[in-house]
Amino acid sequence: MAKNTDAALVVLSGGQDSTICLAWALARYNRVETISFDYGQRHKIELDCAARLADLCNVAHRVVAVSSLSDLGGNALTDSDTAVETMKDKPSEGEPALPNTFVPGRNLVFMTLAAAYAWQRDITDLVTGVCETDFSGYPDCREATMKALQAALRAGIDAPFTIHTPLMFIDKAESIRLMQSLGQVELFAHTHTCYNGQRPPCGTCPACVLRAKGFAEAGIDDPLIS
Ligand code: ZN
Repeated sequence: MAKNTDAALVVLSGGQDSTICLAWALARYNRVETISFDYGQRHKIELDCAARLADLCNVAHRVVAVSSLSDLGGNALTDSDTAVETMKDKPSEGEPALPNTFVPGRNLVFMTLAAAYAWQRDITDLVTGVCETDFSGYPDCREATMKALQAALRAGIDAPFTIHTPLMFIDKAESIRLMQSLGQVELFAHTHTCYNGQRPPCGTCPACVLRAKGFAEAGIDDPLIS
């Protein structure tokens, strides 16, 4: 089957970075579709945001359930009884460097499922907002991981997949400026970032702090707050 190289599937979490990826893809591809994962995250508001964003951009949106990640437990994004670490709780010497918001294997699972769905939709271009400059240092967000996964998907599904990571080496401020250059800053009003699931955002969790810092450095008002 001839694969359509003019179409892209965006992994859309409903957060800031994946929304930039959606805008990035809309500027480049004739056909853009989106996929979101319901993995038992504490805050279903993320999925509501993803659906709203897809609707606003008039693109197809598919939600896939991945309950096994929360079944495994052990992290603050899916365990309701595990508190999210704040910036003040940053690990001191001798403690593990990874924050407890790390969900082991999450992006590996998501990208594999995205590729499986993309194949059915005649799409080989996958777009994800993973980023090495994210302070969290999640190992499944790194360039080396995505390159290895791309090779595994090409071999395992026998299709010429390309994983696009437009945010990989830019910081939050640069990514916000990228959104401005795409003329889509207003879409940020419909994104969700807060680890504590609050709207308006709590302003104190690591995700809120990082978001506010990015907008401040970019010199752009966050339409979610303003
Ligand atoms: Zn917050």
